[in-house]
Amino acid sequence: MLKQRRLRWLGHVHRMDPDRLPGEVMLGQIAEAKRPVGRPFLRFKDSCKRDMNGFNIPSCSWEERAEMRPEWHRSLREGMIKHNELIRLDQLQQKRLRRAAGPPQESRHICDRCGRKCRSAIGLYSHHNRCRL
Ligand SMILES: [Zn+2]
Repeated sequence: MLKQRRLRWLGHVHRMDPDRLPGEVMLGQIAEAKRPVGRPFLRFKDSCKRDMNGFNIPSCSWEERAEMRPEWHRSLREGMIKHNELIRLDQLQQKRLRRAAGPPQESRHICDRCGRKCRSAIGLYSHHNRCRL
């Protein structure tokens, strides 16, 4: 949601008259500023580019899309849905794989009655209540 709002604001400022203050601040550069040694600070445009990559918007031609407000908003909405859907599907896949792999082989929580390996102490406690061997 934050990424979508940031890109939405970017489009809004892009459509503004370039002489207005938000555009000047966003696109301006500091004339004589010293940069600290090391990794440069993340700039607004860097995070916007990163978000556009996630939303499948080509960062070289975003301006043309942002000119047309409905299309810009539509591509942001679709990008957000696809982006979140991919993350959700990936999380589901990882969960499925974890389940299929079973409990870890080097479990510290082993039942003294049947030798079953449990994931956690609470799992072992729960198993003990059921284990009648
Ligand atoms: Zn047991």
